[in-house]
Amino acid sequence: MAHTSTSSKETRMRKNNNLDGLAWSCCGSKLMNKPAGKNMMYEPTNIEHIANCITHGLWIIPSCIGCLCMLHQSTTEQHKYSAIIYGLSLICLFSVSTIFHLVAWSGKTSTLRFYLHVSDRAVIYLFIASSYTPWLTLRDMGFLGQTMRWFIWVMAVLGISYNYCFYEKYKKLETFFYFVIGFLPAISIVLTTSLSSINTDGLSEMALGGLIYVLGTAFFKSDGIIPCSHAIWHLFVAGGAYVHYYAVTTYLYIPNSGETD
Ligand SMILES: [Zn+2]
Repeated sequence: MAHTSTSSKETRMRKNNNLDGLAWSCCGSKLMNKPAGKNMMYEPTNIEHIANCITHGLWIIPSCIGCLCMLHQSTTEQHKYSAIIYGLSLICLFSVSTIFHLVAWSGKTSTLRFYLHVSDRAVIYLFIASSYTPWLTLRDMGFLGQTMRWFIWVMAVLGISYNYCFYEKYKKLETFFYFVIGFLPAISIVLTTSLSSINTDGLSEMALGGLIYVLGTAFFKSDGIIPCSHAIWHLFVAGGAYVHYYAVTTYLYIPNSGETD
């Protein structure tokens, strides 16, 4: 059964590749193809493939450096734990995405491409969950914060499971998962801090990062409607990640902080 299910998912990808011949042109170049059919995967043009690879490939080395900087700034075990979770997810996000887009660009519709695409989506869930981990670990957010600490990972697992089981099938549900995991923790953190005397330094930057991700989902869902929309989504992800990284290292990686229970 599992094999049949995977085959049908691959078939959906294969059928969709036939849309390549329906490219829309501008200035002699194919800027985008027709939107994907129902339950199909969008097939980017050559220009879009290149843009997809560059817009995430550029951030792999800075992510490695960023992770090492966080570890260097760590003065407590909780700092180190957060640096490893957040830093590794940052590296995974950009490297898995770049590998997937390189394989997709190679034109091979294969099992490898399918699993890389599932991994690419999975890493987004893991990344969003890990982005909140330093805030929920290094700053005492009370009961709601402790609840969010496990809720974000439950949501990430649910999102990844959905993505594997219903690959490209219920796209609105997928957007809902991204929205809930991306925005709900931010709302609860802002609510908790506004109702108590918890330190609010850096939370506006954290909320801004979350807002950038949410705005980016408009492009994530615009393949075939806006040229290079997936690459624009990548830029929103990189922008949100930068703002979050800045906030985490500026406000949470302070010597002798991070001593929550
Ligand atoms: Zn991508």
